[in-house]
Order: sequence, then C-alpha cells, then structure tokens
Amino acid sequence: MNRMAPASAEEFLGGLRDQRVLVTAGASGIGYAIAATLSRLGARVAICDISQSLLDEAANAISPAHATLADVSREDDVDRMFDELASSLGGLDALINNAGIAGPTGGVDEISTEDWRRCIDICLTGQFLCARRAVPMLKASGGGSIVNMSSAAGKHGYAFRTPYSAAKFGVIGFTQSLAKELGPHAIRVNAILPGIVEGPRIENVISNRAKQLGISHEEMTERYLENVSLRRMVSPYDVATMVAFLLSNAGINVSGQSLGVDGNVETL
Ligand code: NAD
Repeated sequence: MNRMAPASAEEFLGGLRDQRVLVTAGASGIGYAIAATLSRLGARVAICDISQSLLDEAANAISPAHATLADVSREDDVDRMFDELASSLGGLDALINNAGIAGPTGGVDEISTEDWRRCIDICLTGQFLCARRAVPMLKASGGGSIVNMSSAAGKHGYAFRTPYSAAKFGVIGFTQSLAKELGPHAIRVNAILPGIVEGPRIENVISNRAKQLGISHEEMTERYLENVSLRRMVSPYDVATMVAFLLSNAGINVSGQSLGVDGNVETL
C-alpha cells in the first residue's frame, strides 16, 4: 500500500480513539500513567489491580470503562477478568501487560524458592496468562497490539535481583516469539524496557541496596544515575507515551522490538 505523509500531528499519532485496551496493574505507578494517557487520547481503558483502594482512587481520577480486582498470576482471576471484559468492552484491541513486582533483593544463596517463584509468576507467567486470553479477542478484532513490560534489568542483568532480571529477560523472549506467531494476524507485540523510573518503588530498591552496601540513600541514587547517559530518572509518563506511540498509527510497522525508555542505561 502506498502510504501518504500524515496530514497532521493528530493523524500521525491517531488511531487511539475508541481502542479497547486492558492495562494490568493500572491502578498506580506506570500502569496508572498508561491508563490515564490512553484515556486522554480517547481509548476505552480497562484496568485491573490487586488493591481495591488503589483501583477506587484510579477509577475516581480517570473513569475507566472497567476496573476489576485481579492478580495476573492467578489463572482463575485472569479468566474471570477476560470474561468480564468480553461483556463490558465488547472486545479488545490492545493488551498492556504491565504488572510486575521488584521481587526479593539479595544474593542468590539467600533467595527462597517461594520468593523466586512469586517473582517469575507475576512478572512472566502473568503476561502469558493474559496474552492467552487476549489473543482470541485481538484476532476477532482483526488485529491489535500487545505491549509487555520488561526492564533495563532484562537487557543488562541486575546483581542481587536475579529473579526479577531472569523474568524480564524472559519477557523479551516471550515478546519476540509472540510477535512472530501473531504477525500474520496483524497483531503487533513489543516490549518496553523502562530504566530508573521515579516513584516509591525505585526509592525502596535504592534504600535496600544502600543498606546492603552500607552507604547513604543519596550516594546510592548518584551511583545509579552515573550509569545513565542522560543522568536523569524516567517519568512514568515517558513510558506511557511510548505505549501510546506503539498503539497509534505511527507504530503500525513496529513489532518484535525491545524499546528502552531509560535515558540510555549503560549498565545496572
Ligand atoms: P508498582 O510496584 O508501582 O506497582 C504498580 C501496581 O501493580 C500497584 O497498584 C500494585 O497493586 C499492582 N500489582 C502488584 N502485583 C500485582 C499483580 N500480581 N496483579 C495485578 N496488579 C498487581 O509498579 P511500577 O513501578 O509502576 O512498575 C510497573 C511495571 O514496570 C512492572 O512490570 C515493573 O517491573 C516495570 N518496571 C518498573 C521500573 C521502575 O523503576 N518503577 C523500572 C523498570 C521496569
């Protein structure tokens, strides 16, 4: 097809209006920023989360088309959520597999099997469980988009956070395989690798690491940013705009990619 230059900025980033999108863990943090941004751009957004109070707060702020309590690592929760979505949204055009936890911080010989499994279950298996239910709906819509949240840790590795890093490398393999499988159905699949994102989560990680090394929080923060070319943290809204790009007309030929939104993290 001979495509023309976009007639306007709106047309360039258009195509989001009325898209039916599920954002997992959409009640706070990066997921909330994604849900809020896509809602502003006209999408019909559903969110899930494990916290009812955060879901209520998010629902008050952005009036999502659907908000439901669901743990992405639980098959029964995921199945119920997708059954609900089929009736509340009437279909699906995009899945944003955002849910993930930091997992345990510690040497590999200190990590319990239970903590290892929990991290892999939420960060990786949860993406599989959601994609498995989303794909038939995306096919029924004639195509769509899946965005899987990985991390800079899924590219560089992360000492003392092996379960998280292993899960996030896994997300990239899952993404690349799924992009090949679903390309013929006009379904694009991409991974986003955020770097050091502002917010309580990174503050906790920095505190734990600082304690382990016996240095101050400020010194630890500086050490983290020394490895970022742009020497700045990422806003959750920087990640959200990348998601919007991937779902928009501008992302029509982008699939199977791992896109860093990280100020160019050189190492972790
Ligand atoms: P967060 O820790 O702030 O949590 C956001 C939401 O996830 C919370 O509302 C929480 O209730 C919900 N949640 C937790 N477990 C869940 C589950 N099993 N099912 C459904 N919801 C659940 O997360 P964040 O920092 O916004 O990170 C979002 C994604 O981005 C994750 O996949 C994370 O690994 C990734 N990421 C984050 C950073 C960062 O610095 N924050 C960096 C790289 C990648």
